[in-house]
Amino acid sequence: MHNVGIVGAGIAGLHLALYLQKQGIDAVLYTDREPGAYRDARLLNTVAHHSTTLARETALGVNHWTDPDQHYYYHDHWLNVPEPGPLNFAGSFEKPSRALDYRIYLPRLMEDFVERGGKIEFRRIEEKDIQPLVDRHDLLAVAVGKGPMGAMFEHDPEETPFKAPQRQLCVGLYSGVSNTDPMNVTMSITPGVGELICIPTITFDGMGHALLMENLPDGPMTHLARESYDADPKAFLQAVLDDLEQYHPGIYNRIEASRFDLCQSQDILQGGVVPTVRKPAVKFDNGKYALAIGDVHCTVDPVNGQGANISSYSAFVVGEEIARAPVLDGRFIERVENRRRDRVLGAARWTNLMMQPPSQEFQMLLGAMSQNRALCDEFTQNFNAPEDQWEHLSSPQRIRHWIGAKTPMAAE
Ligand SMILES: Cc1cc2nc3c(=O)[nH]c(=O)nc-3n(C[C@H](O)[C@H](O)[C@H](O)COP(=O)(O)OP(=O)(O)OC[C@H]3O[C@@H](n4cnc5c(N)ncnc54)[C@H](O)[C@@H]3O)c2cc1C
Repeated sequence: MHNVGIVGAGIAGLHLALYLQKQGIDAVLYTDREPGAYRDARLLNTVAHHSTTLARETALGVNHWTDPDQHYYYHDHWLNVPEPGPLNFAGSFEKPSRALDYRIYLPRLMEDFVERGGKIEFRRIEEKDIQPLVDRHDLLAVAVGKGPMGAMFEHDPEETPFKAPQRQLCVGLYSGVSNTDPMNVTMSITPGVGELICIPTITFDGMGHALLMENLPDGPMTHLARESYDADPKAFLQAVLDDLEQYHPGIYNRIEASRFDLCQSQDILQGGVVPTVRKPAVKFDNGKYALAIGDVHCTVDPVNGQGANISSYSAFVVGEEIARAPVLDGRFIERVENRRRDRVLGAARWTNLMMQPPSQEFQMLLGAMSQNRALCDEFTQNFNAPEDQWEHLSSPQRIRHWIGAKTPMAAE
């Protein structure tokens, strides 16, 4: 039977560890942070899981957050254009999505793994530890992007078009934002400014809202990625309110200013993400492999909410291939790559497209979605299957074809 080492207990490492555990395959998880260290940590991210990921959680027996009132059912779009004026339109999922603070999620899944007999070694893996881990296991699954582990995997220059973050992020978990009924994720796009995504989220204090501000680096909201909440909370909150009123009024109008604050003072994250794809594996002198999964393999900007969802998908593909492979050799790596590539790269390419100024065809698509619910529903449902989204968005001709196919009048 295979014996797998997994470095990193984010969603990629945990979903793989739990999957292998269910199959009765030996796996040891190595990670640097104990479950108890998450409660007071700074906000890690603001992750929404789509229904395909929730189905994987159910299969693993770790879907502990099933209250339908804590799920969201559709995307509400605000396109803030001066001409013809703001457009507001919606698209539904076939099955709901859910967002949950990862400082609750990750430690709970670690506990599940340990309670079922899984082994976690809590230690920081350094460069000197890599060879001993390769010797100890038949395969090293690497689910850590930072430091020497990430550096093992070469960049894929063809799939990594940017050298710097394309958005300056200011992300927080807030109280004082009203819910819609049923709940939605609201996506507000303002040309020349950026995107604001408002996500109803299960927090330590019940439901709150993530405000994910994706600010263009040279736009008027980019300063929020540098303003300090800690230095002057009131001034910070007022700066956010002023910008939202001016640039994202659809979401601003849902805020009750007197209750508007971070849920906890550490519920803020600022900075940027460099979209990066790395080569999937490294071969060692003894013939064994290290395989990249999760962000270390493919890091995308959070604007489309894809990184964790493709990490979970990738973990399952890797788990299924480990379970069926007689040996964890080059052919095993090739099979993993063949199976996961379309979805992972579909997410990366679609997200990278959203980072660019919109083409004429993409603007036409947004206009068409504002008039055509079936088209917007399909666009929304494709958040579950980014390879399907990329089928429609990968060339101007395909976008035109999609619009035409969904709106017969436009094709004539
Ligand atoms: C603001 C924001 C919003 C996002 N929103 C979404 C969303 O809505 N939907 C979505 O799908 N994705 C979203 N993402 C992306 C998502 O957060 C990531 O894609 C996902 O969490 C990556 O998981 P991972 O397991 O690959 O890595 P990580 O979560 O980074 O896990 C790495 C693990 O390794 C451990 N570790 C680190 N270094 C070492 C070491 N040297 N030795 C041992 N252990 C180590 C860490 O403690 C951690 O447990 C968002 C990201 C951000 C920043």
